[in-house]
Amino acid sequence: MSVLIYAENTGGKFKKSVFEAVSYARAIADQNNTSLTAVSIGNVDATELALLSKYGVNKVLNVSGDKLKEFVNQAYASVIAEAAKKEGSAVVVLSNTFSGRGLAPRIGIKLEAGVADGAVALPEQTGGSFKVKKTAFSGKAFATVELTSAIKVIALVPNSYKVVETGGTAQVEDFRVETKASDFKAMIKEIVRSTDKVSLPDAEIVVSGGRGLKGPENWGMIEELAELLGAATACSKPVSDAGWRPHSEHVGQTGIAVSPNLYIAVGISGAIQHLAGVSSSKVIVVINKDPEAPFFKVADYGIVGDAFEVLPKLITAVKEYKA
Ligand code: FAD
Repeated sequence: MSVLIYAENTGGKFKKSVFEAVSYARAIADQNNTSLTAVSIGNVDATELALLSKYGVNKVLNVSGDKLKEFVNQAYASVIAEAAKKEGSAVVVLSNTFSGRGLAPRIGIKLEAGVADGAVALPEQTGGSFKVKKTAFSGKAFATVELTSAIKVIALVPNSYKVVETGGTAQVEDFRVETKASDFKAMIKEIVRSTDKVSLPDAEIVVSGGRGLKGPENWGMIEELAELLGAATACSKPVSDAGWRPHSEHVGQTGIAVSPNLYIAVGISGAIQHLAGVSSSKVIVVINKDPEAPFFKVADYGIVGDAFEVLPKLITAVKEYKA
């Protein structure tokens, strides 16, 4: 038995969520006294691949070539499943990203494996079964699912497991898989990047604004604070519905679910539908002028005050701290 981690790259680079998934997979491998193999698909250079060994990968299967340069759901799932077969992997770990969530069930079918997406903690192992704590109902609750199948596929939520450096070196092996025409029925034709800013689903810090900010002209404060903190910007649903911000920033039940280390909510009431997408954040800071705002009930730190007074002070304080 071995453990396999799919090391997803973005433009040839690994994000922090990959190193979290590697550290998580390493811990599972250690619990089972076995080795950890990573599979990388697309054109990732040797220096980047070598980074995986820092977090405990013993071997890297490198799949390159033009056909698989860009993400293709079905084809990538076939490659990862073949890598798992080659390595005799009993556990396959992915990041619970947009692509990871699409891949996990497909790999599950190919390997006849049990699948737990949205995992937030290491599995509890008894005999051959894994109990995995995962988010449920768009992040409003946690559930524990039991995987009893011989092979398990687990997709780990970004920012839910710490990166652990172990050191070591990994041997890199070129790995070829014969893909089928049916693997390429749905393909990405073009990727249009809407922004160069920090990507919201992967962000470690998110600064989010609600209707309390009164209008799009006041978002400069949110953006300035986000830039100072290296954070992504987000918003509540009414804000994106009103066109103050793009829909890609809308978090919550009907938007993106985020789980950053720090979520700063400014002028957001904390409706249940909003909380559904942010409640697994590690630390929540709420700035609201209404002391009765429901958001304060789930906040780790609350500032009762007018955003138009508090934010400029916060921005000045962060600037002074950084100076
Ligand atoms: P409001 O509820 O208007 O709250 C504004 C807050 O700002 C208030 O708490 C107020 O005290 C505070 N405020 C006002 N002025 C200031 C100031 N100067 N300084 C500081 N604070 C100030 N919402 C989402 O966000 N995401 C979703 O995914 C989502 N999905 C939904 C799905 C369904 C089916 C439904 C029915 C609703 C959904 N909603 C969602 C909407 C949700 O119910 C709330 O209406 C919404 O979250 C409220 O947005 P808000 O907090 O920005 O605005």
